[in-house]
Amino acid sequence: MEKLTALFKRRGFVYPGSEIYGGLANTYDYGPVGTELLRNIKNLWWKEFVIKRDDIVGIEASIISHRKVWEASGHTVGFSDALVDCKKCKVRLRADQLIEDYLEKNASTLEEIDVTELVLPEVLSQEDVIHYIQEKKVEGFSEAQLDAIIKLHAIPCPNCTAVDWTPVRRFNLLFPVKLGIVEGEQSLAYLRGETAQGMFINFENVVNSTRVKLPFGIAQIGKSFRNEITLGNSVFRTIEFDQAEIEYFFNPRKDDWEKIFDNWKKLMWEFITERLGVTKENLRWREHSDKERSFYSKKTVDLEYKYPFGFKELWGLAYRTDYDLKQHATFSKHDLSIVDPETNEKIIPHVIEPALGINRLFLTLLSDAYIEEKDRIVLRLNPRIAPIKAAVFPLLKNRQDLVEKARKVYQMLKDSVDGKILWDDRGNIGKRYLSQDEIGTPWCVTIDFDTLVDDTVTVRDRDTTQQERIAIQDLANYFNNKLL
Ligand SMILES: [Zn+2]
Repeated sequence: MEKLTALFKRRGFVYPGSEIYGGLANTYDYGPVGTELLRNIKNLWWKEFVIKRDDIVGIEASIISHRKVWEASGHTVGFSDALVDCKKCKVRLRADQLIEDYLEKNASTLEEIDVTELVLPEVLSQEDVIHYIQEKKVEGFSEAQLDAIIKLHAIPCPNCTAVDWTPVRRFNLLFPVKLGIVEGEQSLAYLRGETAQGMFINFENVVNSTRVKLPFGIAQIGKSFRNEITLGNSVFRTIEFDQAEIEYFFNPRKDDWEKIFDNWKKLMWEFITERLGVTKENLRWREHSDKERSFYSKKTVDLEYKYPFGFKELWGLAYRTDYDLKQHATFSKHDLSIVDPETNEKIIPHVIEPALGINRLFLTLLSDAYIEEKDRIVLRLNPRIAPIKAAVFPLLKNRQDLVEKARKVYQMLKDSVDGKILWDDRGNIGKRYLSQDEIGTPWCVTIDFDTLVDDTVTVRDRDTTQQERIAIQDLANYFNNKLL
């Protein structure tokens, strides 16, 4: 992870946020190379799940939203983290993360515990203990239970090793904002905590302004905000992040939810492994237990990726039933049911939600692509999302005929290849190759003396380092075919 974050900063993927002022915890700025990658990921997702589909439409809802949205969704009450403070070193941590890290690190010792011999506090049953030791998860446990677990195992502070915690307390994650400039007349709104609510509150608008018919989806990519304490795993969890979510609505009396659910699982898997080429061995599905699943959800699975800091959620899939639409119907007093044209019955659709964290996918792709070889660092990023598609080099920078020819090739590729093309004439060719390998550029194009004679160039492949001669007139097609 340290190597990856060093590369992020050195090559312009990700910088710490507000760095010249000493930094602002849990915020990051994306540099020129990282921004291209981030955009390519979003564009590919959008193309796959909105542009190519007849049954999904896109929206961009406002980030600042009415406080009632979040009252209806349950976020103003239920959307919180349980936190503890170390009394000795004052570090503040999420109680669940403190415990889950402890459970991971001490798994073998814990599995040998004879649970029947433990003296348990009233709030913890033997089943509870067996559950969290086996699953290494404490989602869905109450504050009192988290407190009891910390005490039971005398979990030490990871920062100073003291065992001296404050009681577990809940903090709401929504960011309140005050609208209006006159003190006293300001009204309370919130930065959105998830993009999903934008789809629910615009459900009626979308139905009335388009030709969507059940089953159909509403998709959105955008920023969400959560006032969280994080563990500093780069952009894995940040207070401001990009979500790509789809709310897929269907008639529960006509459509089999399990079929739709399984189909989404398949689509998610294909997107990650086939379109993006992530290593299958580093992925796994994990189904949420009854305890950790939201009360309104009938089934939730996470597609998890094996990050340098362990398997963590990358893409969640949840069957949210009709909970959200019903809540908004009640709070807004709008009828959010629709009529099925075939049966004429009025129904509130149910919804299945694939929810992807774009920044997590960014970290997944880089972490999966990073390889150290004998004499180079290389990012084997799928060309479809590589920040730079090709780099163009004149063999020598002081030969005007080479530079002129190379400029022409460079301009031609910029005009005809879908993606960023880079120019580099510094140092020797070998160094230019290494520099491009580090940011995952799939192809380097060199204009040499033969080019001046026969109009062919050398194309060097990032992964194999093999070179081939290609005619300039075939070059754009050669790249575009591989970027499909
Ligand atoms: Zn401490």
